[in-house]
Amino acid sequence: MSFFVLKHVTKTYSIEKRSFNALNDVSLSFANKGLVSIVGKSGSGKSTLLNVLMGLEKPTNGEVYYKNQNITKISKSSFSKLHLFEISMIYQHYNIFDELTPLENVILPLLIRGINPKRAEDMALKLFRKFSLGYLLKQNTEVLSGGEKQRIAILRGLITNPKVILADEPVGALDSTNATMVMDMFKEISKEKLVIMVSHHKKLVEQYSDRIISIEDGKIIGDEIINEYKGYDSDNTLKASYSNLWTKLFIKKNLKANLKKNIFSLVVNVFGFLVIMLSFGFSNGSKESEREALRNNLACERATITKKITYKVENSPLSFIKQTRPSRDEVNEIVKPNFHAEVSYNYSYLFSDYPEITYNSTRIDSAEFMPIYSLCDSFTLPKVLKYGALPTKESIEQIVVNEEFAKSIDPNINKVIDKVIIFSGQSEISYATGDNDNPVIKDTYSYSYRGKIVGIVKEFNFLNTPKVYYSYLSLERELKNTLMDNLSRYKNERFTFYDYVNNVKDDESVSGYSYNLFLKSVDDLDKLYLLIQENKENESALEISSSTYEIYTTYSSFIDTFSIALFAFMVIAFFGVNFIIGMISLSSFIERKKESAILTSLGAKDKSISSIFLLENYIVIGASLVLSFLIIFPAQLGLNAIFSNVFMLDNLIKVPIRSFLGIPYLFIPLLIIISLLVSTLFILIPLTIYKNKSIVEELRDE
Ligand code: ADP
Ligand code: MG
Repeated sequence: MSFFVLKHVTKTYSIEKRSFNALNDVSLSFANKGLVSIVGKSGSGKSTLLNVLMGLEKPTNGEVYYKNQNITKISKSSFSKLHLFEISMIYQHYNIFDELTPLENVILPLLIRGINPKRAEDMALKLFRKFSLGYLLKQNTEVLSGGEKQRIAILRGLITNPKVILADEPVGALDSTNATMVMDMFKEISKEKLVIMVSHHKKLVEQYSDRIISIEDGKIIGDEIINEYKGYDSDNTLKASYSNLWTKLFIKKNLKANLKKNIFSLVVNVFGFLVIMLSFGFSNGSKESEREALRNNLACERATITKKITYKVENSPLSFIKQTRPSRDEVNEIVKPNFHAEVSYNYSYLFSDYPEITYNSTRIDSAEFMPIYSLCDSFTLPKVLKYGALPTKESIEQIVVNEEFAKSIDPNINKVIDKVIIFSGQSEISYATGDNDNPVIKDTYSYSYRGKIVGIVKEFNFLNTPKVYYSYLSLERELKNTLMDNLSRYKNERFTFYDYVNNVKDDESVSGYSYNLFLKSVDDLDKLYLLIQENKENESALEISSSTYEIYTTYSSFIDTFSIALFAFMVIAFFGVNFIIGMISLSSFIERKKESAILTSLGAKDKSISSIFLLENYIVIGASLVLSFLIIFPAQLGLNAIFSNVFMLDNLIKVPIRSFLGIPYLFIPLLIIISLLVSTLFILIPLTIYKNKSIVEELRDE
């Protein structure tokens, strides 16, 4: 039995339902030495024959015996793996890597087989010297001549010490001088190994061959033996294990070669990661800032309580609502069990919420006047007051304004302290006596107060308006001290405006139709807002309202909408980024399909080849993550500074590094793991789809 035998081998290809035989009942046997040439016209089946011998193609019919072993039965992949250790293929266009050095090209099959690089280099250097090619070691592969490249390719084929060298048109692309040098090399090799070569070069074939096989339409039509060899040598094949270390060489080469693409990926990645981190940071920080927002408003302590009575018009779908001041008992019923609060009369009929204001004899656009109880009480607003100061003395002459108001006096708000504004107005009370001689008694409450600005509060200014805060108790004291002259004279007893508001009927406008509710602790704010909300939902007769609550709910729904939008943007950015990465890696895979095919033919496993692509991406992703983490903190700081200036909210963006979903430091590893997982998927899916494309196709010389 011979060394390498084909028995009745047929290879059938079908193209568009028509099948034809590229090899038709081919039987051949080869000894373990000698230079065998295969000649024939283009398309006669020469390459197919070599591919069957190489194990890259499985015959449709017939058997192949290699060292007495029928290797047709085993799977195509184990067939080629078995062969890869014993058979090397040389191609017309060399298929070596220009970006690697000649030495790296030659030792590659050894590295793939897990040989230690030092030992691999020693083996390669011996081989370079043996064929007097040492001078190539210092050269750049790219600039070598075709003949030199082909000889590097042959050295690469020899380095694993195979039994057989298969060469498809190895001198087809070379001039005669180079062709002769390559043929000399094959002749030398064929003294110890079987060399099977396809060539058109009639002269060289006749000059060098020990045997010439002619093929036509897949059939052997001639077999001329010039020097007969017989034999079969001992097994001295390189035994090796696979290793992945060699992929480093390719990752380095490819990262460099695809620099622009990788920088683009990096930028896209960094953008994506920043969007992700900022949107998490926003939804995290804005939750806390919502609470801050409502406290950062001096008006937050005050609410008004009114009552609505609905009257149905008989026999009609119409009804009308009348507003009235509730009774004290009704108010106490909901206030007392809920919070520490002060319930007081509302004097807005007498002292307007929008009095006329002048400063330096010029009128100032309307600002809202808000009574606060705390000016005269132990109410503490630590958070609110960190920016401003409250007056120390109980007096209506001392007022606190918010920044919006201060700006309307002087753009440089610091100059506003100690400035005096005058606010004035008047309102008339008509008292119906029921007495025909004197049916109506009129009294006018007119005021012109000088208010000295003793504090400026910097408030959360989303939808906020200019506000002036005055002491509720001071106003009350004023009203207690101001007589209603006409009414007092008529009734012949002392009657103050304070008395009047206190005793007026609840459904008269002087009552303000409401009570003021002043919280005694900011900690009760949440409870108050909850109560307002519940009251609204239950359509209860008592209605509690608060201007800061309105601002707060508008703000939180704005924040919620924005969070959702940002989250959607984040998801799109995340998948978009990974899609782009996947596309980039797919495109480089397609560009480098030939590289993958060559590596496969040199014995590299699919897994190792995929790992080159994956690792390249992991490196880019890793670099992007590092860069993103470097950028995120200054970015967060800057954005927060902007938000703090514009909205008076600190830490609106707070990337949840310290704690995420309640677990400390979960965010960073989660981000890394998820991005690696998703990018792995986006890379592996296209790779798996493309992997099964035939490598023979890729290696075919055009
Ligand atoms: P040669 O190398 O002698 O020029 P080949 O062995 O490459 O010829 O091809 C022999 C015939 O088989 C040609 O007609 C070629 O087009 C066809 N052929 C080769 N490979 C395939 C394939 N994978 N699918 C279909 N036809 C193929
Ligand atoms: Mg061919």
